[in-house]
Amino acid sequence: MAKATDVKLIDEFGRRHDGRLPEEMRPVSMRINVLDNADGSALVEFGRTRVLAAVYGPREPVQRFMILPDRALLRVRYHMAPFSTAERKSPAPSRREIELSKVIREAFEDIILVKYFPRTAIDIFIEVLQADGGTRTAAVTAASLALANAGIPMKALVAGIAVGKIEGVLVLDVDEVEDGVGEADMPVAAAPDIGKITLFQLNGVLTKEEVEKGLDMALEAIKKLVELEKQTLVEEYVTTEEV
Ligand code: ADP
Repeated sequence: MAKATDVKLIDEFGRRHDGRLPEEMRPVSMRINVLDNADGSALVEFGRTRVLAAVYGPREPVQRFMILPDRALLRVRYHMAPFSTAERKSPAPSRREIELSKVIREAFEDIILVKYFPRTAIDIFIEVLQADGGTRTAAVTAASLALANAGIPMKALVAGIAVGKIEGVLVLDVDEVEDGVGEADMPVAAAPDIGKITLFQLNGVLTKEEVEKGLDMALEAIKKLVELEKQTLVEEYVTTEEV
């Protein structure tokens, strides 16, 4: 049986297994106002990865003991639907989902103007409908759109993307196949309009030069994603896919 390391994921022309060049992201689509019963909502796709975000608030927290006197309480729940993965995922929250909920919350903590809404709660629910790598960065992108759609004041829009290293090459927007065999995975989220990085993780090993180059690749893509978010907020739906 072929080992994962035997599989070639960059061909002789420098193309990836799905035909993309190293600095190419998957086709992206964004839509807002996809749910009637949330204050703001968005559906974001990066290739086959499909993530829904629903935002409620600012509203009175259900548990009053959680009230913060000087700012809004921000809560995030990242959840993968049981049908989102090839093997049915247990619907019970996993350690990974608890960690990602925290990481995504931290990506917005200094972005949302929580001081404007003391004694309230803002809830972000993330539902991964289909997982094919990059769900946390798609989740941040969807949450940014859903927050804006809910009219919640923010310092700037946020978007995210991961850079990976496969067979020694830095690649943008890793999918699940690449994530499974790659040497490193570096998810980044940022608010380029205020020059702020709000999420940065590194799984695997990269040199200092690779981290710098990878960060530049991610930030350049994030600028484009934020422009797509702005367009989505005006037009409700945008796609980079050729139609
Ligand atoms: P991200 O989705 O942000 O890249 P990970 O690197 O942890 O986060 O996961 C990479 C991919 O692995 C996911 O997008 C998904 O396709 C797959 N995956 C993660 N958790 C599970 C799981 N519990 N069951 C099946 N596939 C999973």
